[in-house]
Amino acid sequence: MIKVEKLNKSFGDLHVLKDIDMSVRESEVVCLIGASGSGKSTLLRCLNFLELKDNGKVVFEGEEVNQDTHDLNKIRQKVGMVFQHFYLFPHMTVLENVMEAPVHVKRVPKAEARKNAKELLKKVGLAEKEDVYPSKLSGGQKQRVAIARALAMKPDIMLFDEPTSALDPELVGEVLATMKELALEGMTMVVVTHEMGFAREVGDRVVYMHDGKIVEEGYPKEMFTNPKQQRTKEFLDSVL
Ligand code: ATP
Ligand code: MG
Repeated sequence: MIKVEKLNKSFGDLHVLKDIDMSVRESEVVCLIGASGSGKSTLLRCLNFLELKDNGKVVFEGEEVNQDTHDLNKIRQKVGMVFQHFYLFPHMTVLENVMEAPVHVKRVPKAEARKNAKELLKKVGLAEKEDVYPSKLSGGQKQRVAIARALAMKPDIMLFDEPTSALDPELVGEVLATMKELALEGMTMVVVTHEMGFAREVGDRVVYMHDGKIVEEGYPKEMFTNPKQQRTKEFLDSVL
């Protein structure tokens, strides 16, 4: 589905991604873990070209993407992204938030976009909130709207960057449940998360990053109980 090879990215003198090789298969859920500053968000942003690599390859759906000549917006439409902070449009209702991109970016007819948006809101458990403005929602509800909004573009893959880190603890579960449901439906997902329970239960694979490199990857249960690298062990000991 998506693959990077020998990906490098620097910000000025700071070498943030160092020869990253990673691939995500269709319907796979890959959880990306690692300490703050290890490069997780930068890697995620390189996957949807919010950040442009310095060198290496990004292969999307079997085709190497040349970032100088490719229509990157076309690819971004197929790659949904959900951030720690939800970035909903404050002056639009929940329903309008979910309809916005399909109508204005994809030129989907309004009636069709509305119908689809309503279905998505039902799916994330917020059908009754469609006419409400984001300021009236809890953090967990806002994040579920953000997920519905990303899904409205019918992406082939969803990227989540610490989607529950900004939430009060009691609201984390409802967002993780929505994500789990999505995973069970077969959505391909890359999830940067500190929620090791989610990684263990829902992740097909865990990738541990340290200092811009992938140190270890494996099946969640295997890696959590029996990490191969000392670094991974130290990290897991600090978070589990
Ligand atoms: P966190 O867990 O805190 O979100 P992270 O693993 O997502 O961390 P990144 O956000 O990818 O880490 O950042 C990796 C490094 O790159 C950090 O040292 C960060 O300061 C730096 N960095 C990230 N984005 C930029 C930018 N736009 N300009 C300059 N430096 C950046
Ligand atoms: Mg980050």
